[in-house]
Amino acid sequence: MTVTDTATTRHVPADLPTRIQHYIDGAFVDSADGDTFDVLDPVSNEVYLQAAAGKKADVDAAVAAARRAFTQGPWPRMLPRERSRVLHRIADIVESRDARLAELESFDSGLPITQALGQARRAAENFRFFADLIVAQADDTFKVPGRQINYVNRKPIGVAGLITPWNTPFMLESWKLGPALATGNTVVLKPAEFTPLSASLWAGIFEEAGLPQGVFNLVNGLGEDAGDALVKHPDVPLISFTGESSTGQLIFANAAPYLKGLSMELGGKSPAIVFDDADLDAAVDATIFGVFSLNGERCTAGSRILVQRGIYDAFVERYAAQAKRVRVGLPHEPATEVGALVHPEHYAKVMSYVEIGKTEGRLVAGGGRPEGFETGNFVAPTVFADVPPTARIFQEEIFGPVVAITPFDTEEEALALANDTRYGLAAYVWTNDLKRAHNFSQAVEAGMVWLNSNNVRDLRTPFGGVKASGLGHEGGYRSIDFYTDQQAVHITLGTVHNPTFGKDA
Ligand code: NAD
Repeated sequence: MTVTDTATTRHVPADLPTRIQHYIDGAFVDSADGDTFDVLDPVSNEVYLQAAAGKKADVDAAVAAARRAFTQGPWPRMLPRERSRVLHRIADIVESRDARLAELESFDSGLPITQALGQARRAAENFRFFADLIVAQADDTFKVPGRQINYVNRKPIGVAGLITPWNTPFMLESWKLGPALATGNTVVLKPAEFTPLSASLWAGIFEEAGLPQGVFNLVNGLGEDAGDALVKHPDVPLISFTGESSTGQLIFANAAPYLKGLSMELGGKSPAIVFDDADLDAAVDATIFGVFSLNGERCTAGSRILVQRGIYDAFVERYAAQAKRVRVGLPHEPATEVGALVHPEHYAKVMSYVEIGKTEGRLVAGGGRPEGFETGNFVAPTVFADVPPTARIFQEEIFGPVVAITPFDTEEEALALANDTRYGLAAYVWTNDLKRAHNFSQAVEAGMVWLNSNNVRDLRTPFGGVKASGLGHEGGYRSIDFYTDQQAVHITLGTVHNPTFGKDA
């Protein structure tokens, strides 16, 4: 057995910053109180930079700058085509730097480099998509022949507060920044404290692309400080949040006194349902990828696999054998399929579920550190079979490379099992029976369903969850709707028909 000495073999990108500041009103600044927090890399778990720890004073300054840019600056008043050009330039710059972005993201988050590269390209695509959508945007007009014409005057809302998690951080930030900016809002971004590195690059990219000063502002910091101040700021009418369901509940309560617009993309425990008539090769490949890609730190991970009894034993055997072959490795190595989990705290959480799983199911692959990786946040792809629905590893989001497999006999039982959690983000259905495919997909409690496929996105479709997995939808025109007010303007064409009160006698 070779042991990887992660301290010596880890890849440290050239020109790595040692400190990260906020970006407010076009300038990089420290926190008003000078406070910072430590950022670790997940391979060595050593502190490699200090990030400015924002508090209320920093959020106040960022919101004031964004508010000025909204009320006085050119951005909300520019033609959609002009804003679209800036967004396309942003996409061009992101694309031209995809390798560097991926290198930094992989170092900071532990994501395998090939997958980080895919996420950098997707970030560019998000900007391109909303750049195109905004010029094609048309609004409704309603005619009442001869009497009225009524139309929708769509307007940006103001300062959008964007709060993002540490999994695929750069891409998820682009998913909010793209539509918020395309529609003419100004923004304050609060990225996740575990992974602030890639977010710090937006400022330079936006400046180069010609985004006016004050339109984009970035405040780093802890959720309970910087995030909380953003949620409670009276001049921030919108919060788009992606993160854990419990954080979403807290933000929902904290935003209530201000009656803010909220969009919430939350946690998941998504089922993959494999019927006995499915294409087994494709189902095994997809369900392996579905839970082990992005280190299993993926909101739409298919982390519960429900398999029909007739193929159950064969499926489990094949699945376990293939999971054992999934290549765990250093994040920067192109052959790596599962890298290092983001942070030692998260690693401890995932490992605690691995131990819980050993008392709740039958361990058929993994179950601890992979051989040869004595340090760093590495977890062997772990598979539990025969997991009952009462198990914590069936019910709770683990957010790591850990999967629960459960048998079922009938379609009804499969549906009951699929719906038997508090979450409802995604579902993956594997069957070649046309009627069953549609009936099951329509009945399953999930915001998004993929039939005979893993998670392949179409950016025009709604993205979001039901139950504890989210509130509202983003994606395509839903994002445009969230970031705009639709004012109804009514025009009288014919004779004014007024009911006259207080008529002369
Ligand atoms: P998290 O909820 O801990 O943190 C998310 C963000 O919220 C961070 O920036 C954090 O600083 C901030 N935050 C924390 N407390 C806050 C508070 N009181 N007020 C304001 N902001 C606060 O989530 P995480 O651990 O970073 O991310 C993982 C979670 O995100 C998982 O549950 C995953 O399923 C979910 N997620 C969902 C989607 C989706 O689209 N549905 C996508 C990615 C991740």
